[in-house]
Amino acid sequence: MACSRCGRASAVNCEKCAEGLEQNGEPSQILYCGRQCLEADKKAHASDCGLRIDRLQLFRAGKLVQDAFLQSREQPFDLCIESVKKNGHRLIMKEPKVYKKNGPIYFEFPNEMFDNERDKKAMLTWMTCSDGLAQMFNLLEAAVQGLFTKASEVCLQLRAELARIDDGSNWRLRWSNGG
Ligand SMILES: [Zn+2]
Ligand SMILES: [Zn+2]
Repeated sequence: MACSRCGRASAVNCEKCAEGLEQNGEPSQILYCGRQCLEADKKAHASDCGLRIDRLQLFRAGKLVQDAFLQSREQPFDLCIESVKKNGHRLIMKEPKVYKKNGPIYFEFPNEMFDNERDKKAMLTWMTCSDGLAQMFNLLEAAVQGLFTKASEVCLQLRAELARIDDGSNWRLRWSNGG
């Protein structure tokens, strides 16, 4: 890696933001060829240095909120899923044709139907009520308090396409692929 200031081979890093994160969430890499460049760059790097540490806190908060959200969906899981099939990027979830009368309101989340975390998350993120999202927004606001003046938006994106089929009938819902 090259020195952030002069481009020569790097030997030391900025210790302050070594624990921080780049914009993409990768570990921060502010490297210098030696102490001379590190000292000379201190002023110019100061605000970016602070941002990198803030970002670490933001990513941690995001992870916490996501974990809390997924747990809050998984514990009281209220969909009866008969099977989940994969079709390319799409997950096709099948519900029973007829729900048992007086059956349970909550169901065990069908972990065994998912072979990876990503698909499981897609299912848990699906059909989320706005109450749940509002709660997560409040949680995020609390988690990043002091870091930003205002949190204005929480963006949720489904990772995989999900389709729901009600066996035998003709309705289908499809979400576009979030990448
Ligand atoms: Zn240098
Ligand atoms: Zn730094």
